[in-house]
Amino acid sequence: MSEYRDVVVVGSGSAALCAALAALEKGVSVIVLEKAGEDLAGGNSKYTAGAMRFAYDGNADLLPLLKNPDDPRLEVTEFGAYRAETFEADLLGFNDGRPLTVEQKALVSQSYATMRWLADNDVTFEPIYSRQSFQKDGKHVFWGGLTLAAEDEGVGLVAAQTRAVLSKGGQIRYDCEVVELIVEGERVVGVRTRDAAGKPGEIRAGAVVLGCGGFEANAALRERFIGADWSKAKVRGTPNNTGRGLEMAFALGARQHGLYEGCHATPMDLHMPEYGNLDIPHEERKNYRKICYFLGVMVNRDGMRFVDEGKDFRNYTYAQFGRAVLEQPGHFAWQIFDSKVDHLLYAEYRFHDAHFVEAETLDALIEKLDGIDDKDRVRATLDAYNAAVDDDVAFDPTVKDGKGTHGLPLPKSNWAQKIDTGPFKAYPVTGGITFTYGGLEVSAAGGVVREDGGDIPGLFACGELVGGVFFNGYPGGSGLTSGAVFGRRAGYGAAAVAQDRSLAAQTA
Ligand SMILES: Cc1cc2nc3c(=O)[nH]c(=O)nc-3n(C[C@H](O)[C@H](O)[C@H](O)COP(=O)(O)OP(=O)(O)OC[C@H]3O[C@@H](n4cnc5c(N)ncnc54)[C@H](O)[C@@H]3O)c2cc1C
Repeated sequence: MSEYRDVVVVGSGSAALCAALAALEKGVSVIVLEKAGEDLAGGNSKYTAGAMRFAYDGNADLLPLLKNPDDPRLEVTEFGAYRAETFEADLLGFNDGRPLTVEQKALVSQSYATMRWLADNDVTFEPIYSRQSFQKDGKHVFWGGLTLAAEDEGVGLVAAQTRAVLSKGGQIRYDCEVVELIVEGERVVGVRTRDAAGKPGEIRAGAVVLGCGGFEANAALRERFIGADWSKAKVRGTPNNTGRGLEMAFALGARQHGLYEGCHATPMDLHMPEYGNLDIPHEERKNYRKICYFLGVMVNRDGMRFVDEGKDFRNYTYAQFGRAVLEQPGHFAWQIFDSKVDHLLYAEYRFHDAHFVEAETLDALIEKLDGIDDKDRVRATLDAYNAAVDDDVAFDPTVKDGKGTHGLPLPKSNWAQKIDTGPFKAYPVTGGITFTYGGLEVSAAGGVVREDGGDIPGLFACGELVGGVFFNGYPGGSGLTSGAVFGRRAGYGAAAVAQDRSLAAQTA
């Protein structure tokens, strides 16, 4: 006889665990099925910095979310406000003319309530002093609308959510890959599974929630949907998000939704492993990422700059610039800095396995830039850049300082300082994919929508699987919030369907 649970949740990342928590809150039985073993469970969510973007009106809104609301630094911290209108405008800025989608409106409007809900479930947060604030006039001044991260980052987030699921009576089964949905009539009534030894299994369910990630770890699907360059991309997170959830939903007629050629990708160390690595020490975990380009310049194999490195706060450019780097000739670039900004480079630039070259003079540095044959071109690019820097405006990394270049065909709009003070450093980077933007369409209750507009009864989706949330870019910290908002919603929706079915079965 096969097992039965009211709600089966596929995947154990943050979105899936939120779905499980929400369903448990409604009093139904829940099992979470995770393809990975316990070490890699938690998916991409575990690799994150735990940073979450949400709308808030000021410091007072943040206090109920904090692990330590008595931290004396809070007295001298300016979080500012990040109102719903600003969050919406930030998303709109990446929509390439599309109006806000229903998914984006839901993300923004539910963001703060979902953070409070997480805090009610013992997930606590800390201010991101190290990466999202600068010291100014004796105060910690936050910038860019992103203020809090889960305690102990992604590892802490997944651990807290896992504890909450287990303490509410949910079960989690690792090494249990979901390979197929069981369908009766049009209704999803369970899943077929395979354990680590390849042994098949089956669990019947009142409803199934897919929370098993996008297709970023599947080179063939990346190439098909995003483009030829993308088979070369490094994968920043889990090797397990191979698009199986999408394929299972498509097999039942689910509609493709969102921008399939879109993805979140950031500049990463050229010599990082093919996938993200959870083995490196926690404090160094994200350190293959290299996103301080706004403090210097980037040049490609032809010795040319190719983006406006200071176009906006890096929260608003880092998810696009990975694509820009990957699409350069040879799929790489060099980030170049002088000693004036060395102390501002994030810890990831001092990581024990960070690859870089260093020299006392710019010419000597340029000689060390492997992969670039035309050294004169790099020198000319840097000379032109240095000559174009506006010396009359003061450098201030806490604001968009307007310290830009004049007269370059490709400007640097903010934080443009001359690269003229040795020693100089250069870091080789490539593009690393974080997650994919194309997904499924879900209803207001989290149900998966069919090609013809109807629901697929009993099937729900959340997290990276939800399309229509991000298009040509991404305000940093929105992915986890999206996972939590749509995970919670799918959990409530699935629980309601499972309860209805069980009632119908009892009265039949
Ligand atoms: C290095 C890195 C840093 C990031 N930093 C941030 C950040 O600070 N803030 C932010 O908002 N976002 C960040 N993100 C993005 C964020 O990780 C995602 O938006 C979010 O975690 C996705 O959550 P999810 O639950 O949908 O997917 P995941 O957390 O990836 O979970 C999916 C799970 O499904 C499992 N799975 C896959 N297929 C199957 C199957 N067939 N059967 C069973 N299980 C399956 C996978 O093993 C995985 O555990 C980062 C991502 C990476 C890679």
